[in-house]
Amino acid sequence: MESQLTVLKQLVVLFIAAFLWFFSVAWVNSDTQKTGRNTKFWNTIFFFFSPISLIIYLSLSWKNKLKKRTVTPRADLVLLKGNGEPLFLAQGGGQESLTLDSVKDLIKKALNNRSTDIHLSPKIHSLLTRFRIDGILHDGPSFPERLGTAILSSFKVLAQVDIAERRKAQDGSFIVVADGNTINFRVSTTSSLYGETMVIRILDSKRGLINLNKLGLSPQVEEECNSLIASSHGMILVAGPSGNGKTTTLYAILNRVNTGEKNVISIEDPIEYELAGVTQIPIHSKTGVTFAGSLRTVLRQDPDVIMIGEIRDLETAEIAFRASLTGHLVLSTLHATEAVEVVARLLDMGLKPNFVSSSLIGVLAQRLIRILCPKCKKSYKPQNLEELYKNGLKLGEKDVLYKPVGCKYCRNTGYKGRIGVFELLIIDKEIRTCIDEKASKEDIFSIIKEKGMLTMKEDGWEKVKQGITTIEEVERVLK
Ligand SMILES: [Zn+2]
Repeated sequence: MESQLTVLKQLVVLFIAAFLWFFSVAWVNSDTQKTGRNTKFWNTIFFFFSPISLIIYLSLSWKNKLKKRTVTPRADLVLLKGNGEPLFLAQGGGQESLTLDSVKDLIKKALNNRSTDIHLSPKIHSLLTRFRIDGILHDGPSFPERLGTAILSSFKVLAQVDIAERRKAQDGSFIVVADGNTINFRVSTTSSLYGETMVIRILDSKRGLINLNKLGLSPQVEEECNSLIASSHGMILVAGPSGNGKTTTLYAILNRVNTGEKNVISIEDPIEYELAGVTQIPIHSKTGVTFAGSLRTVLRQDPDVIMIGEIRDLETAEIAFRASLTGHLVLSTLHATEAVEVVARLLDMGLKPNFVSSSLIGVLAQRLIRILCPKCKKSYKPQNLEELYKNGLKLGEKDVLYKPVGCKYCRNTGYKGRIGVFELLIIDKEIRTCIDEKASKEDIFSIIKEKGMLTMKEDGWEKVKQGITTIEEVERVLK
């Protein structure tokens, strides 16, 4: 409707301009003849004057239009529901378009500042938004109550969850097409003191796939990882709390394994990154497609390498471990704070010690720490060397460390991006015996320390010395 009106307006203006042009040309013609001036000359000038100015005017407005398009990328977000249908909000004037604009604006902001999550939390008479960037929450815009409720409802429509339900927890997903990229969003709602709280996780597949050598593995750990991955069978687990890059690491390993000579199958909930050459199977627990059920099917598909998104229950663990014993390399993640804890967690789940010891070949535990902003980090000479030494950070007299400052490039946080700190537990003969004998976590830990395993904290200190991060950041993440 709007575009039709502007076309009509332009036509009217064009008509008036043509009318004026015609009369001025006629007047000039008769006037010059009357006064005896050079009629041909003035006629030519007036005849061409108008068309030329029209062309200049049109070319200028075109230029402006082109400029606008390049200044605001992500200008046109296409919002699609989880099933791929476009979002349709009832046309009814101001409120709907304001809501839709706010929704799009929130998504644009989140994508532009590299957020991994958007938090929407209702407070008294308002809706607060926050963005998680590099693992830390930052305040976003807040909205008045009515608009806030409308925004929450729009996200619920997009995620295809029950709009009327405000108490029970609900899950859904939607898709955004921005600059030709398809980005998946996962929505989770639950009720809180002032109403419904929503967290939207952004699964940007372009951001996800990182090469194994870019994760931050020390040369020693990377070499050991490579030899583990080359095994034809056995179980490799990546451990850490959620939101610490386990999936990214798993994908990096899978990408290294995926050379085309092996049949690689993954079972995931959700599929975060598409990997060419890998058969990826999504889990739908709502419709009864479970990890355990899918895993049984996968085993009949002649796989060489199987990736399981996460081991959450005994049933999945048992099938996965059995598969790793029968000639398959199995990769998965487990929620555990450190490498040695994984063994205890598996036994707690109900797996038999000899079952674990004979199939597990390695555990890679990890955390993500923030990287100092390269544009504003400032060097300093550390003072309390003795205290730092006690804490495990061994520095020489001449060592220089860096601290965060803050600039426009890092949004005044002093940090930009994150990198992993790792510890790799290799299950060798000695550790296997420990597991069989149900040795304590502490006993296993002292043995692997003797063998020279680098802990996550030691890996972190190494990155402090290299000027990648700060003492405070390592202490914040690894208390
Ligand atoms: Zn900076």
